Amino acid sequence: MHHFTYLNDSMFCEEVAVAEIAREVGTPFYLYSTATLTQHFKAFDSAFADIPHITCFAAKACSNIAILRLFGSLGGGTDIVSGGELFRARSAGVDPKRIVYSGVGKTAEEIRYALETGILMFNAESEQELNLIQAVAAEMNVMAPVSFRVNPDVDPKTHAYISTGLAKNKFGIPIESAIEVYRLAKQMANIEVVGVSCHIGSQLTQVAPFVESLAKVKLFIGMLKDAGITIAYLDLGGGLGIQYKDEEPPHPEAYGQAIKKELAGLDCTLILEPGRVIVGNAGVLITKVLYTKEGKKKFIIVDAGMNDLARPSLYDAHHSIQAVTNPGREKVVADVVGPICETGDFLAREKQVPAAVSDDLLAVMSAGAYGFSMSSNYNSRPRVAEVLVKHDQFHVIRAREEYETLIQGEMIPDFLKER
Ligand SMILES: *Cc1c(COP(=O)(O)O)cnc(C)c1O
Repeated sequence: MHHFTYLNDSMFCEEVAVAEIAREVGTPFYLYSTATLTQHFKAFDSAFADIPHITCFAAKACSNIAILRLFGSLGGGTDIVSGGELFRARSAGVDPKRIVYSGVGKTAEEIRYALETGILMFNAESEQELNLIQAVAAEMNVMAPVSFRVNPDVDPKTHAYISTGLAKNKFGIPIESAIEVYRLAKQMANIEVVGVSCHIGSQLTQVAPFVESLAKVKLFIGMLKDAGITIAYLDLGGGLGIQYKDEEPPHPEAYGQAIKKELAGLDCTLILEPGRVIVGNAGVLITKVLYTKEGKKKFIIVDAGMNDLARPSLYDAHHSIQAVTNPGREKVVADVVGPICETGDFLAREKQVPAAVSDDLLAVMSAGAYGFSMSSNYNSRPRVAEVLVKHDQFHVIRAREEYETLIQGEMIPDFLKER
């Protein structure tokens, strides 16, 4: 369910005509619907309404501070994976006690920053990281709340690049040996062991892998209990998939039911870290057709490229492409490509797309997750604007970058200034 619909053959985001926004802010731009974001957050959060839980939105999916603030205002928190995301969550006004810090490579500076902020907990991923957290916390004379991310060795049945819960993946501590790290941590003067976490992958379209990993984690929590270690938080990560094309992922309600059933008897607060399922279908990328080319193949050359939306190039991901006006128009099989000097620069490859000509606007659907947040300045392209619609108003939540921003921080050393 989303709020990008047609009225009189023209695409609207809630009550605003997309073409109108394009006239005002130019193209390309990311466009999000407040109603859709809110509805998706609530659908997910309410699936756990009857048990103690915190829904910590995974900032890396869509990290604009306006979006983080929206979820914060709905009672959610933030799952961060870097000091930069912590800065964003703080700038958005997210309650520190609703911030969890995941990721396999935290630095001493980032750990210090998180301890100063007073976050809910670290999800530590190795013994070496634990040692560093202990050292930094001792230096600051504070207690560090730590949970460990265990790797349950479960196949999430998703794209290899976004599988994280297999033994061969770099993430977490193997669940068989994790008890040792807990024992170690328990002895440490500045570590408070508060939880267990796991996150097995992204774009999961079945409930079974979640249940399988939860079953393993549950056994593990029992082992911890026997060892005299009780935990307050069980963090199940994110990973629930969305429909890009013909996938049929479970509804958050069904996901919640399955989790709660498996959870029965465990006495801890559940932490959830959904990203994609909340924002994926709440955002689109609007781009304008520059040229068309016709030879052996049809190409539609648009003003957005792989630097603006990396998913097609990176994962060969499918994004449906729709015409912003006259959606009933003829379809053609074509490549929709950007201006980047790479053959891998495409938004769609040999797909049925609207027959579009110069100056037509196209909407790249389901681009809210890992869209803007993965964008880059490759080919020295200023990053695009982000726009948030609420009812009949639109708000620019990130201005299009200027050329000046591109060289910010760059310097010509003196030896090159001579003559
Ligand atoms: C990426 C990530 C998430 C969010 O994943 P989605 O598939 O977007 O829900 C949650 N937790 C951790 C630790 C992650 O790395």
